[in-house]
Amino acid sequence: MAKRKKKIDLSAKILFALIAGALLGVVIHYYVPEGYFRDTILIGGIFYVVGQGFIRLMQMLVVPLVFCSLVCGSMSIGDTKTLGKVGIKTVIFYLFTTALAICIALGVASLINPGIGISLEAVEASEVTVAESTSFADTLLNIIPKNPIASMANGDMLPIIVFALFVGILLAKMGSKASTVSNFFSQFNDLMMEMTMAIMVVAPIGVFCLIAKTFSEIGFSAFLPMLKYMGAVILALVIQCFGSYQVLLFIFTRLNPVRFIKKFFPVMMFAFTTATSNATIPMSIDTLEKKIGVSKKISSFTIPLGATINMDGTSIMQGVAVIFIAQAYGINLTPSDLLTVIATATIASIGTAGVPSVGLVTLSMVLTSVGLPTEGIALIMGIDRILDMLRTAVNITGDAVCTTVVAHQNQLLDRSTFAKN
Ligand code: ASP
Repeated sequence: MAKRKKKIDLSAKILFALIAGALLGVVIHYYVPEGYFRDTILIGGIFYVVGQGFIRLMQMLVVPLVFCSLVCGSMSIGDTKTLGKVGIKTVIFYLFTTALAICIALGVASLINPGIGISLEAVEASEVTVAESTSFADTLLNIIPKNPIASMANGDMLPIIVFALFVGILLAKMGSKASTVSNFFSQFNDLMMEMTMAIMVVAPIGVFCLIAKTFSEIGFSAFLPMLKYMGAVILALVIQCFGSYQVLLFIFTRLNPVRFIKKFFPVMMFAFTTATSNATIPMSIDTLEKKIGVSKKISSFTIPLGATINMDGTSIMQGVAVIFIAQAYGINLTPSDLLTVIATATIASIGTAGVPSVGLVTLSMVLTSVGLPTEGIALIMGIDRILDMLRTAVNITGDAVCTTVVAHQNQLLDRSTFAKN
């Protein structure tokens, strides 16, 4: 009982920290004069160090936690047939929701017309520093690790997933012959989960500093000429997150969507503040297990996979951005261009890493596919931070909904956990 109370407190504390941090950030931006105290001590000092320190603590967990829990998960599922089925279902679900997200984005943007009548001079264009994105062929090849240790050192999720699945499946096959190694992984896995819980205790402080720093640096005046664009992205994100996902969740699992959102909300807040899908992996797996009832056997596989290849929120931004840039430059898009956008943005979602701002990098690939100028990215770069935060929350919610559906279909969803308050 006491333990449960502590948990409810933690979610409320994170929400409180988020609101208080945002308010403090706005106050600092407008009322505290620029200078050494504000810029160096407060924003670049305390907020930066504490906020980034927290993200690093969460990132520190990702590779060992994903690796161990995936080894344990695949070891306990054991047979490759079930694992293969889970994998295929998950990938299909991820691709489907991404394509759906882009269609919603294109629909909303065509109704709102965010780029019509925009004066290009009024928008604060930023310098475009778009890095080269990896080709699809290389993205596919990179799934196989040349050196698993190097993949772990670089935090490359897909090759880690492949290697961990291999280890887990073979450990299951070897049985008692490899019991020392199996025991090691399951005990190390427990250790990582303990560490996640220990770090989550300081989450409110980390969230507070991260959000205060972001809001104290954001120039809200840059938003004004971009309100229609931002509105279109946000509307499409809301439709995807609270509409499509919840309908899918209900159809497949019959779980109460409102309850699901309430339970998963702290993870969404965390994704919002950090704009980093990758860093939310430990918290997502933990929350899905303890509050929603999803077995780690499924989530240890589908959550890291989703954080790497399933970026529905990012695709929504890209869909709206395509319409916005086409309209701003007065370029007409044909229906076949729109189909190309759906296809390339789905592939771009696979190639987008779960870290801040990468969606803008892969946007260049989508723009090029239909002959739009990549300089258009400069128009939306200045206001992208807030949208990055929002779309990251949607990105990880999509992963969680898919995980819950797949867990349900494999009888690995404990409804009594979901029913508990
Ligand atoms: N920040 C996003 C994420 O981590 C990726 C992006 O859209 O830039 O999911």
